[in-house]
Amino acid sequence: KQILICCGTGCRANGSMNVVDAFRSEIEKSGADADVIPQIKTTGCNGFCENGPIVKIMPDNLVYYKVKPKDVPEILEKSVLEDQEIPRLMYKDNEGNRVRSQEENPFYAHQQKLALRHIGKIDPENIEDYLELGGYEALRKALQMTPDEVIAEVEESGLRGRGGAGFPAGRKWRTAASYDNFPKYVACNGDEGDPGAFMDRSILEGDPHAVIEGLAIAAIAIGAEEGFFYIRDEYDLAVKHVKKALEDAEARGIIGKSVMGSSKRLHLSVVRGGGAFVCGESTALMASVEGRVGEPRAKYIRSVQKGLWNQPTVLNNVETLANIPLIIRDGGKKFAEIGTETSTGTKVFALVGKVKRTGLVEVPMGTSLRHLIFDIGGGIIGDRPFKAVQTGGPSGGCIPESMLDLKVDFDSLAKYGAMMGSGGMIVMDDRSCMVEVARYYTNFLCEESCGKCTPCREGLRRMLEILTDICEGRGREGDIELLERIGHAVQDASLCSLGKSAPNPILTTIKYFRDEYEAHIREKR
Ligand code: SF4
Repeated sequence: KQILICCGTGCRANGSMNVVDAFRSEIEKSGADADVIPQIKTTGCNGFCENGPIVKIMPDNLVYYKVKPKDVPEILEKSVLEDQEIPRLMYKDNEGNRVRSQEENPFYAHQQKLALRHIGKIDPENIEDYLELGGYEALRKALQMTPDEVIAEVEESGLRGRGGAGFPAGRKWRTAASYDNFPKYVACNGDEGDPGAFMDRSILEGDPHAVIEGLAIAAIAIGAEEGFFYIRDEYDLAVKHVKKALEDAEARGIIGKSVMGSSKRLHLSVVRGGGAFVCGESTALMASVEGRVGEPRAKYIRSVQKGLWNQPTVLNNVETLANIPLIIRDGGKKFAEIGTETSTGTKVFALVGKVKRTGLVEVPMGTSLRHLIFDIGGGIIGDRPFKAVQTGGPSGGCIPESMLDLKVDFDSLAKYGAMMGSGGMIVMDDRSCMVEVARYYTNFLCEESCGKCTPCREGLRRMLEILTDICEGRGREGDIELLERIGHAVQDASLCSLGKSAPNPILTTIKYFRDEYEAHIREKR
């Protein structure tokens, strides 16, 4: 048997490494015969972090939640040696029924895992686990294809960048491949900075080889021999796992002086993030990789033409790259059958806030907000009324109850002033003050604005002052209109996407919850 213990950051914070130690010492103490000793495997994040540490017994497909070291002797005795379940450690669904497997758990039952396909099943620090599941076969296949064929598969898949902008990945690769000035570079954007978001972190921690394989295929397609993983500085475990995976892939001859025995070379390395939210913006990220201050530049020349060291560069997000091996292995057409016509495949969301079941969820594009929040998330804590959901990170928008049936994809949310962004989803109940919510996000963005351009630097500060006045009982007639005017000016005139999208929380809360602003101004203290 196998005992899979979740050791993602969430479960670690809940003590999963102590659970691993307890299993090891109990097994050692038991003196059991080698043929009955279960194999212990530490895995990446299962996504249901609030119920961690999570322990899976395979092949029985039995999952235990909130496991403590004191539970370990009983788990070993009953569910591993005697095939008996331990009901108190099993998950209870909304009706109070105990669920045995992940598939029966309502949190997982509606999900479709592509980008997260291996996470929770493999040890991310063991390349053998990845290879056993067909890892690097897509890279081998890509080496037998022409670069044009590889790019054509990605184009046919319809894959759009998961970092938020939704730019077609295949088009980006084709543009980079069309330039014949070398060297060219590939880079992975792992500088996830949205409050509440941990999609990229979990993929890098739990399945680093999938992202390496995706980046290697991008390099083959555009003719790059060097690439970078730019990973948020705070993501220690992700940095550790990616570095280990790169060493192992190089030791195996998968990358390095020869890519899987071919005449191609590829050197990949890790760069730790500069510690600022704006470093996730493509041109700021590239400046940071080069060792300069992570400030955006105007994009009159796209980074795909002049990116790192002014050379053609493909920058893709972690989740985008994790999908690439699947697309090459199974074909772009198969990937395009999932999701909607213009937003294909699946999307990983970090579902958090006032929802009963929180965590990482992966669903086909086009899934409705209602399905995500009520069927997967189980509804609002305490069965209170739903008020709003904030999508797309700090510069996303707040969506009211009347729009819960909206399909989540790149285009639907944008029509209503919100955005899917990289996948943050924060649910609010009837006790949330929407003006305070707008103030919170504006304050975050004010702190993170790099200050290079005036509309973002000054505009956000003025809007924060007005919001603070409204929240603290000093609001005046005309403040709402002033916020709207400044917000539109900041959207129009800011240099980078941080500033261009920063007014979204204010503008959407005014649009859908204007009465709350008016009430604050009317009811001055
Ligand atoms: Fe910096 Fe904001 Fe201007 Fe972007 S929009 S360059 S973050 S000041």
